[in-house]
Amino acid sequence: MSVIYDYHCHSTASDGTLSPTELVEAAAAAGVQQLALTDHDTLAGLPEAAAAARACGLSLLPGIEVSVAWSRREVHIVGLGMDIADPGLVALVAAQQQARVRRAETIGKRLDKVAGLAGSYGRAAALAGTDAPGRPWFARMLVAEGKVRDEEHAFNRFLKAGQSAYVSTPWIEMAEAVAVLRAAGGVAVVAHPVRYGLTRRKLRQLLTDFCEAGGQALEVAMPRLNEAQQALLRECLRDFPLHASGGSDFHTPAQKWLTLGRLPTLPEGARPVAELLRPDAALAA
Ligand code: MN
Ligand code: MN
Ligand code: MN
Repeated sequence: MSVIYDYHCHSTASDGTLSPTELVEAAAAAGVQQLALTDHDTLAGLPEAAAAARACGLSLLPGIEVSVAWSRREVHIVGLGMDIADPGLVALVAAQQQARVRRAETIGKRLDKVAGLAGSYGRAAALAGTDAPGRPWFARMLVAEGKVRDEEHAFNRFLKAGQSAYVSTPWIEMAEAVAVLRAAGGVAVVAHPVRYGLTRRKLRQLLTDFCEAGGQALEVAMPRLNEAQQALLRECLRDFPLHASGGSDFHTPAQKWLTLGRLPTLPEGARPVAELLRPDAALAA
């Protein structure tokens, strides 16, 4: 019997729509036994999630999804099992949050101009309940204000790269983020490797640099991978000294095509990332 796990999901502490408590309850209801909450660049949801996990009898791992810069691109690194009081980690989170606030303010200014709204930043921040609303919150705000049909339209019209309200953020370098996560006792994982639009060659370069920096795992179990993507990830596991992780990247129950903890099994021979976790890493066991 293998453990039903999900090592990648989001709550209202970043851009998810369920509170940490609701998320943990949804995971428990879906049969998840071990969950890692991996909000974008924040640890803020973890204490509440840990309390809910204790109440549900579910194991909760501390997690985070850090946006990093690699080769002039944005890549996401999931951290698992860190000591969340580690000063280096706390400093990283503070710096990333500051970068997020500055980006959100700039997105807001652009939307005020191009979407004909006043106070876009304040509206998105109010909706998100944070001063660093990410793009999904701006998308939801644009829907609520009747400026776009739906969130996808908001991205296509305003928010995605190349559109008028797209703002890139000066994220921390990948190698630095990996070093901070490792120093905090955590495991660094390349999140959703097939979602960056990288060629096979570029992806291999990313993994070479990631391993050199001390990165240890690759997210390979996720919903809706096609055959070619699965083959590519198997090849990466074979050719790089990486353990295998998996997660749904759940943000909201509105993503009807995915369920917390419902992941393909790891490729044969893959070493599960759980092997690398500190024995006392869980916030709730
Ligand atoms: Mn997100
Ligand atoms: Mn991501
Ligand atoms: Mn994510």
